[in-house]
Amino acid sequence: MRVVPIACLSDNYAYLLVCPETKQAAIVDPSEPGPVLRALEENIGRNGDVKVVAILSTHHHHDHVGGNEAVAEALGVGRVYGHVSDKGRIPKQSEFLEEGATFTIGALSVSILHIPGHTTGAVAYVVTHEPNDPVVFTGDTLFVAGCGRMFEGDPPMFHGSLQKLAKLDGRTQVYCGHEYTEANLRFAAHVEPSNQAVLRAKDRAAQVRKDGRPTVPSTLAEELSYNPFLRVDSPEIRKTLGIAESASPADAFHAIRKAKDGFKA
Ligand code: ZN
Ligand code: FE
Repeated sequence: MRVVPIACLSDNYAYLLVCPETKQAAIVDPSEPGPVLRALEENIGRNGDVKVVAILSTHHHHDHVGGNEAVAEALGVGRVYGHVSDKGRIPKQSEFLEEGATFTIGALSVSILHIPGHTTGAVAYVVTHEPNDPVVFTGDTLFVAGCGRMFEGDPPMFHGSLQKLAKLDGRTQVYCGHEYTEANLRFAAHVEPSNQAVLRAKDRAAQVRKDGRPTVPSTLAEELSYNPFLRVDSPEIRKTLGIAESASPADAFHAIRKAKDGFKA
């Protein structure tokens, strides 16, 4: 499969997801129509026959669904996916998903994980197409080296959602909703200074951004090695933030989330 990141607004990513066999495609989180339609024109120019059949919304926030209406109308997209509980909050939504739901985009198989925490209706889209490694679109729940703010959920809920993502195949490529990687890694280095994976990722991200490229995708295995929100049992993180050894994983997650909210890199 082909995934094309589309930079939107100041630091958002929408994505063009294309099935290589059928040329059927989906747009993930069209923040605004302009960059999405331009990216599509370039790709249609190259391939001739890409047909967008669906919009996949990860959650209801405006910087993720702001382009739903204009993109759906401009391209005649009939299917707009989102969680069932986001009914009324996602413009043009026509498909109301629950945990475990599946559908296809051409020959691509898509399955849904309900991952509340950033918002209560957040979902991840896991896309597979043999023999490629799977990809996952995580919206604002899991970022490269970080996670979203806890606007609507509670700590056990958000921690449970991250654990659900953590159980995906380690080779799964992670495409998230924002380019926050460098700031996230500054926090990761602050809370876990002796983690070499954090330092390596920091160097790599700095180089990639200097070249003007996106830091997505990472892989899930990489996230497990440096993302503090997937490493709540790390003794070093707990020591840095004064989290008791006896604290539950959800409580440790909460403390790390609060520390990140107040962190000035
Ligand atoms: Zn959001
Ligand atoms: Fe966002």
